Amino acid sequence: MVKRFREPIYVTRPVLPDIDSVNDAIGKVWVSKWLTNGGLQHKELEKQLQNYLNVDHISLFNNGTLALVLGIKALELTGEVITTPFTFPATVQALDWNHLNPVFCDINPKTLNIDADKIEALITDKTSAILGVHVFGNPCEVGKIQQIADKYNLKVIYDGAHAFGTKIKGKPIGSFGDMTMFSFHATKLFNTVEGGALTFHDEEIGEKLALLKNFGLVSSESVVLSGLNAKMNEVQAAIGLEVLKLVDQERVRRDKVRETYEKNLADIPGIRIITGLKNKSSSYQYFVIEIDASKYGRTRDWIHKELEKYNVYTRRYFYPLCSDFHWYKHLDSAQPENLPQAQKSVQQVLSLPYYGDLELESVEGICRILREMHTSAPFLIPIKD
Ligand SMILES: *Cc1c(COP(=O)(O)O)cnc(C)c1O
Repeated sequence: MVKRFREPIYVTRPVLPDIDSVNDAIGKVWVSKWLTNGGLQHKELEKQLQNYLNVDHISLFNNGTLALVLGIKALELTGEVITTPFTFPATVQALDWNHLNPVFCDINPKTLNIDADKIEALITDKTSAILGVHVFGNPCEVGKIQQIADKYNLKVIYDGAHAFGTKIKGKPIGSFGDMTMFSFHATKLFNTVEGGALTFHDEEIGEKLALLKNFGLVSSESVVLSGLNAKMNEVQAAIGLEVLKLVDQERVRRDKVRETYEKNLADIPGIRIITGLKNKSSSYQYFVIEIDASKYGRTRDWIHKELEKYNVYTRRYFYPLCSDFHWYKHLDSAQPENLPQAQKSVQQVLSLPYYGDLELESVEGICRILREMHTSAPFLIPIKD
C-alpha cells in the first residue's frame, strides 16, 4: 500500500527564476521609466525568442488568446474554419471573436490532433482556413494539412500553445502554416507570467499585427483600423528574459521525469503514453496517458478522483470537448456521432504531474499507486464512478 503524499503534488509548477534575478530585471524597467509600448525588454525578448524558436518573424502579445484572436483577424478570414474539438476553449473562442463558424473535425487516435485524413470531406465553398492544435506538443500532420490547404486555397493557422521548442525532423514548429500561436501562460513550459506570441512568414502581417494590438494607431493621432490593446508589457518581457535562461535546463530535468514515468508505467495493462511519440522532438509541456478501462479495470475518472486521496492532482485535459459547448450544439459537425474518436479520447486522457522540480521518488510513487489501482481493480465487474 502506497501512502498519501505529505505535500500535494499538482499537475504542474511554473518555471520560476531566482527572486533576486527577477528584482534586478524589474529594476532595469524601473530605472528606464518605460513600462510598456515596445521598450527595451520587449525588443530584447522578441529578438531572443525569434532566435530560440528559429522563425522568420515573431510578434509578442499580452496573452496567447489575444494573439490568436488578432492573428486570425490579420488573415482576414471569412465563413468557416475547420478545427479540432479536442483543445483548450481559447482555440475555438478565438474564432467566435472573429465571427467565424467552427467546423469540428475528428481527431487522430494516436496523436489526438486534428485528423488530416478527415479534413477534406468538411471543406465547403465557405471554408477559409484550417486551425490545427499541436496537442500536448505532439505536432499535427503539417505536410498533409498544407497539401489540402494549397489545393483549396486555404490559410493554415496552428495553436502551438503546448509546442514551445517542438521540432519536426529538425524543423522548428513555428515555421509551418501561415501562422503559429504560442502561449507564455504561467503553466506553459516557457512563461512570462501571462503572455503569448505569433510567428509567421509574411512581413506585412507583422505590420498589421502591430496595429491590431495597439488600437490601430499608426501615430499618436492617426487611427487606421479597429484594433485592441494586446501588447506585452516591459515587466512581462523582463521576467520572460530570466525564464528563458532556464528553459533548456527545465527540459533536461523534465526528460528525467518522463524517463522515470515511462520505465515504471511500461508494463501496466491499459495505460498508453501519448506524449513523447517516437522521432518527434518533444516540447516537454505535459506527460499524458490514455487509460483503456477494459484492460486497466478502472475508468480515467475513477483514477483521477482516487489519486486525490493520495494528494496527487491530475488534470483531465481537455474535458469537455469544445464541440459540447452549448452554443455549438446545433452544429452538424458538433454532433457526437460525427466525432467518435474525440468522444472516446476525451473519456480516457489524463495529464500526470510534470515539472522539473518533481522528485523522481514521487514519480515512482505515483506509478506504484497506478499499478496498485490496476492490480486491485474489480476486473470486468461493472465500474461505478
Ligand atoms: C494555454 C492555452 C491557450 C491560451 O493561452 P493563454 O496564454 O492562456 O491565453 C490556448 N490554446 C491552448 C491549447 C492552450 O493550452
